[in-house]
Amino acid sequence: MKDEDERRPITDEEQLDRIARLPKVELHLHFEGGAPPAFIRGLAKQKKVDIARIFNEDGSYAYRDFWHFLEVYEAATSVLKTPEDFARLCTAVLEESAKNGVVYSETFLSPDFCGGGDLGAWREYLQAIREAAEAAERDMGVTLRGVVTCIRHFGPEKAKRAALCAAETAGDWLVGFGMAGDEKQGKQRDFAYSFDMAREAGLRLTSHAGEWNGPQEVREAVEDLRVERIGHGVRAAPDLAVVDMLAERGITLEVCPGSNVFLGVYPALRAHPIDMLRKRGVKVTVSTDDPPFFHTSMRQEYLGLARAFGWDEEIFAEINRTALDAAFCDAATKEAVLKKLEQA
Ligand SMILES: [Zn+2]
Repeated sequence: MKDEDERRPITDEEQLDRIARLPKVELHLHFEGGAPPAFIRGLAKQKKVDIARIFNEDGSYAYRDFWHFLEVYEAATSVLKTPEDFARLCTAVLEESAKNGVVYSETFLSPDFCGGGDLGAWREYLQAIREAAEAAERDMGVTLRGVVTCIRHFGPEKAKRAALCAAETAGDWLVGFGMAGDEKQGKQRDFAYSFDMAREAGLRLTSHAGEWNGPQEVREAVEDLRVERIGHGVRAAPDLAVVDMLAERGITLEVCPGSNVFLGVYPALRAHPIDMLRKRGVKVTVSTDDPPFFHTSMRQEYLGLARAFGWDEEIFAEINRTALDAAFCDAATKEAVLKKLEQA
């Protein structure tokens, strides 16, 4: 093991290529946020919906900042209407994952976007998505599991409907419950009822915290919602008491470095706290969040970390084992994924 302080940025092209091709486990991927822009444009054209305003001239998604991004995200999502649309989305998203060497992925699904929070409709969407995921597993070798998320800026009442949908469909495919959306609105504890309902249904829990708000937000997610994973969590970094609490409790962070840099949470990857958090004993993992929106991919995330912090194959292997340990799927699924990681 190298001295942790002596790591130099990796510049050797052959080594970088090996790192980019490693099999990967991804825990933090918003389902609609993985939609390739060409897929959304095609669907909009077919349905004769004009959403030209959300695209740049080069065809990528166009927005000014995080809050505008939420609007563009919802506009893009508005063309996804039927269970069939979501099944096609599933295939498109998993094609991208497979291209990037992802062997296991958990994706955030929102009943608010799939049938407006209605349980009967949600079951139909879920069934369609699940069938597409099973086909992708056979054809592309990437395993997908679902985590229902409520949307923080839609408020606690809508969250209860999302939690009910999650609780009623919990099982070997729908494995978790969480919260996404605008962290500047409301408090973690406003959603405790929904998280309790999900926990009682056997679902595992995660919540977005510490992407925009500071260490206190991360502490509240752990203490008020009793989650075992945190979406982002990186802004816990300035308060070492919170950092050490995460390490001691074994909370896993779903870190999305490219997303954070793209949205200006940090000015550059070198300034991102992921490496410090890892050295301090926090369980960190690597994900893309909403890859086409943030012009990233799992390959690019790995290359960026290798170049910024000198992370080598050994560290990425450790990151992937941490992610698989923290995955919400059952033991048999983990064992199958572990074989793929070990073959590499
Ligand atoms: Zn996210």
